[in-house]
Amino acid sequence: MALDFDIASIRDDFSILKNSYVANNNKLVYLDSAATTQKPNIVIEAINNYYSKLNSNVHRSAHYLAAMATKYFEDTRLKTAKFINAKSADNIIFTSGATESINLVANCLGRSYLKVEDEVIITEMEHHANIVPWQILRDELGIKLQVIKLKDNGELDLDNLDKLFNNKTKLLCVSAMSNALGSINPIKKLIDTAHKNNAYVLIDGSQLAVHGKVDVSELDCDFFVFSAHKLYGPTGVGVLYGKLELLEKMPPYKTGGEMIEKVTLDKSTYAEVPHKFEAGTPNISGVIGFGAALDYVNKFDWNIVNSYENDLLKYCTDKLLKIDKLKIIGTSDKKGPIISFIIEDIHANDIGSLLDESGIAVRVGHHCAMPAMEAMGVSSTLRVSFAVYNNKKDIDDFILALNKVLSIFR
Ligand code: PMP
Repeated sequence: MALDFDIASIRDDFSILKNSYVANNNKLVYLDSAATTQKPNIVIEAINNYYSKLNSNVHRSAHYLAAMATKYFEDTRLKTAKFINAKSADNIIFTSGATESINLVANCLGRSYLKVEDEVIITEMEHHANIVPWQILRDELGIKLQVIKLKDNGELDLDNLDKLFNNKTKLLCVSAMSNALGSINPIKKLIDTAHKNNAYVLIDGSQLAVHGKVDVSELDCDFFVFSAHKLYGPTGVGVLYGKLELLEKMPPYKTGGEMIEKVTLDKSTYAEVPHKFEAGTPNISGVIGFGAALDYVNKFDWNIVNSYENDLLKYCTDKLLKIDKLKIIGTSDKKGPIISFIIEDIHANDIGSLLDESGIAVRVGHHCAMPAMEAMGVSSTLRVSFAVYNNKKDIDDFILALNKVLSIFR
């Protein structure tokens, strides 16, 4: 395993990069990490180890295996708290992903706190996961949605931010980094403005958490959500960080076993936070695998990761800009390693399929951010996104393949 930032040894940590032969017997060039990252071997081994040596349910049974599974499961909660600098492991709720984390907050705040005519602010940049739950609340509760718009370069237009708040504003929901455009938002400024206006803040950290240090205590956000699978962990595990005083006031989300204190046929009382929000058997292997992913990323220095990934971003951007009739969508100078682009007169889907024939995996479409696409005047883009295991050769292979594809069309 990589102990410092040595790209050759990092690539060795990801077997899929060596073992996966994709279309036409090409080696995989994986440029779709914003959709999901590849998994280092220690994550795969941790899941294998759990099923082959420890498999049992958590929190209940009286035997050794259950005690060990519970220990590993709860260790991940502690590691997660440490990873984002939460005050305690009790601030961390495991969900199935960022989508469920946002739905949990929408559902529980909706039932306990938001009233007709209250206002929630979202942005034009959000992933659908941070739009649709709020629209449902709007339709069910009669709340209003206000929207922070996008500027032409894909940054949020914050010129009139204060004007969006009033005494009915209860919550601001904003992503830290756009999955469709790469823009990184000034979340500290947004959080401080919301708090000055007595509104809570939910940060969608799904894209940022894998590219930079997150410190929820310093940010002082009320909720922070992300998915393990975009952070070198398994699918089916998400995190909801919440301030304890809010989590304690919120009613439970899903109900059933594990989340109760006492049940009679007349009524039930609930377990303490975080278990109050974790009904049923959780994704034990996934959470344990996520613990291994956190061990993996904790070996890196974020400053080195940032400068390495920024270098890839710049290298690829410069090469793309040399291509005739190519337009980058999202040109903020505060970007994570994501590039969305279109090429005049050629449909993104056609380019994506032909790139796949050379083994280059990119994402094509609206990236579950249709309002952002509309604001930028496009219906879909091609998106390349990088992680620690990418190198300049990946980008050279991609640019070579892209130029070949374009020569077919032109
Ligand atoms: N928010 C953002 C910014 C995302 O990029 C994604 C995943 N593309 C999500 C939310 C939803 O994450 P998941 O599908 O893992 O729940």
